[in-house]
Amino acid sequence: MKPPRFDYVAAGSVGEATEALASAEDSRVLAGGQSLVPLMNLRLARPSLLVDVNHLGALSGFESHNGTLRFGAMCRHRFLETDPDVRQKAPIFAEVAELIGHVGIRNRGTLGGSLAHADPVAELPALLVALEGRVIVASTGSERAIPAAELFAGPFTTGLEPDELLTTVEVPAHRDGDGGAFSEFVRRHGDFATAGVAVILHRDGFGACEQVRVAGCGLGPTPMDLSAAGDFLRGESSLTDGAAEELGRRVAAAADPPGDVHGSKDYRRELAAVLAADAVRRAWARAGSAGGA
Ligand SMILES: Cc1cc2nc3c(=O)[nH]c(=O)nc-3n(C[C@H](O)[C@H](O)[C@H](O)COP(=O)(O)OP(=O)(O)OC[C@H]3O[C@@H](n4cnc5c(N)ncnc54)[C@H](O)[C@@H]3O)c2cc1C
Repeated sequence: MKPPRFDYVAAGSVGEATEALASAEDSRVLAGGQSLVPLMNLRLARPSLLVDVNHLGALSGFESHNGTLRFGAMCRHRFLETDPDVRQKAPIFAEVAELIGHVGIRNRGTLGGSLAHADPVAELPALLVALEGRVIVASTGSERAIPAAELFAGPFTTGLEPDELLTTVEVPAHRDGDGGAFSEFVRRHGDFATAGVAVILHRDGFGACEQVRVAGCGLGPTPMDLSAAGDFLRGESSLTDGAAEELGRRVAAAADPPGDVHGSKDYRRELAAVLAADAVRRAWARAGSAGGA
């Protein structure tokens, strides 16, 4: 099917984009188009105006500044996966981006698009929650920050206003002793995950666990913050198999997964337990190594 008729503007600056977004009632940002265009073709989205931000170089950069990593919203998944600077300073983004769809999709799809689309099974929203990141959004003449904890309001629903453009994604920079891992289950290579779990933890100079952050995709109506499940690990200097499995049990109990054709609620809970145990083992080992994640 072809999409319904729409107007199109190729924005030349962030200001032009936000003005165009405010100029029509049903305007939408066009980023990688990997979710929006199929929805339009299926007539599930009928924007009157598409504001194309693909030519805004200002939205594509990656930098580390004063303890914060900043990604432009138009960073493609493939860039996150392959850029040497990202791989060195934010390896967990490379690990997660590699899990998204197929290469053709990753060549076009963007970080900002994935967050704004807010698919509850998408990996990057869960990663942002685990990292306690935030997004910067611009509208005509103003800018505001939205913490990850407030960004995701429901399935495919965010706290962004219709005239707001997500410009930047910020997460804390890697410190010595940080380690992260993302584990997911997919039935076929390139599919959306049935469920996924991100674990980000910090170990102090003596190896003791100081902080554990856990978030999941496919485990609730939004990317779920399941960090309370890892509180019992604080102060521990080693991770036993029993502790990793205990984290899995706690994550499964706290999750609120949907039941659908891809898996029942109980099946997804079991997956959550296995994935959380796997992710915490890998994150723990990385937190104790020089490179971290
Ligand atoms: C076959 C297939 C498999 C896929 N597999 C996966 C997968 O395994 N995991 C996964 O996470 N994703 C997957 N995707 C989706 C892919 O990651 C998309 O890239 C992503 O969901 C949306 O990014 P986009 O840049 O393409 O956004 P678009 O499709 O351009 O936009 C999506 C929505 O976000 C809004 N938007 C985009 N950018 C901004 C912005 N900067 N500010 C405000 N609003 C904005 C748009 O208006 C639109 O409503 C898959 C897609 C396909 C087609």
